[in-house]
Amino acid sequence: MNYDHIMVRFGELSTKGKNKKDFIRVLAKNIKNALSDFSSLEYIVQFDHIYIKLNNENHDEVIKVLQDISGIHALSLVLKTNDDIENLKKVTLELIQKEDGKTFKVKAKRANKAYPIISDEINRIIASNILKNTNLKVDVHNPDILVSIEIREESAYVSTHTYKGAGGYPVGTGAKVMHMLSGGIDSPVAAYLLLKRGLTIECIHFASPPYTNIGVITKLKDLLSKLNKYQERIKLTIIPFTKIQEKIYEVSDESYAITIMRRMMYRFADRLSKINHCMGISNGESVGQVASQTLESMNVINAVTNVPVLRPLVAMDKLDIIDFSRKIDCYDISIRPYEDCCTIFDPKNPKTKPALDKVIEFESRFDYESMIEDALNNREVIIVKKGDEDII
Ligand code: ATP
Ligand code: MG
Repeated sequence: MNYDHIMVRFGELSTKGKNKKDFIRVLAKNIKNALSDFSSLEYIVQFDHIYIKLNNENHDEVIKVLQDISGIHALSLVLKTNDDIENLKKVTLELIQKEDGKTFKVKAKRANKAYPIISDEINRIIASNILKNTNLKVDVHNPDILVSIEIREESAYVSTHTYKGAGGYPVGTGAKVMHMLSGGIDSPVAAYLLLKRGLTIECIHFASPPYTNIGVITKLKDLLSKLNKYQERIKLTIIPFTKIQEKIYEVSDESYAITIMRRMMYRFADRLSKINHCMGISNGESVGQVASQTLESMNVINAVTNVPVLRPLVAMDKLDIIDFSRKIDCYDISIRPYEDCCTIFDPKNPKTKPALDKVIEFESRFDYESMIEDALNNREVIIVKKGDEDII
């Protein structure tokens, strides 16, 4: 006897009330996209679960893909079977004998209220049959094995094995943010965490050729193709940043260069987020990591925009960020050697507590507005999507 379905549970999204229909629609679409290689699967989308009929596809492989999809709370391997109580006794016993564990609990649910036996009674009948025929004990609070039985109109669904899902919300149920993507370790992880909350991203990158090498673009595309697992199509805008950076070093005190450079980055992100209808900016900043990420610096840098700036890594340790980076398969790409525009122009003593009036004075020495305008007019857009990518 083999499992023939996977049941997908929504968890956190059940609390979403009236938006639930949309969430389920987006989640079902994301699931179908992610599983497009498994051509025999069939989907039964319902208000409280999504059932995936396996049709002999390998369930371990399907589950591996599903565990990465945000918006899924848990997954169960289920067997669709006849709802006759004698059959349910036989099936549950057979399935539980394949599981590891010492304790169990039976949880029956009657979606079909016409079924003649009430849930508590089903629990009792099934549990006594298991107790009689195995050495397992009942534990209602923290069982090793949970036997779920769901009686629906068309059939009964039995499950003894549940897997944890990624949690969060389905990608695409939230608004779009303009994400600052550097090619380092942090910003791809930050992007992943935002996607997990249901947001959609597009990316902006500041390139400083010839100081930064052209390989950076390949690196960014490779990173984004890893994120395509969560968002199928990601737009990346490359901003030519060299002239502005050189100008900053010409007009300002070296210790202020990073602060001013980051204010320029934020100005670009702010402009582009408005042009491309994003609701905020995001990046991989983490408090205290470098001089520009003290709260004093963040205040001065953040002052150039009034859209929300999302920093999902704000309180995370680097080692935890690295763990995430490995988990999403980005780490080996992120550590490929390359020169970032920040590392090239790395001042010896960057200000950790920059003074806003000084910053404004330095910035007044050049017409950055027209330089920003000019760079925006010369931006390059790359679309990275699942399976391939092309340049517009
Ligand atoms: P990362 O590992 O993401 O490069 P970091 O620890 O090196 O981060 P910084 O270089 O100070 O930190 O950058 C902080 C954040 O600013 C980055 O996470 C990224 O979101 C953004 N950023 C930095 N450099 C660039 C760039 N060249 N293009 C776009 N965004 C950038
Ligand atoms: Mg960096």
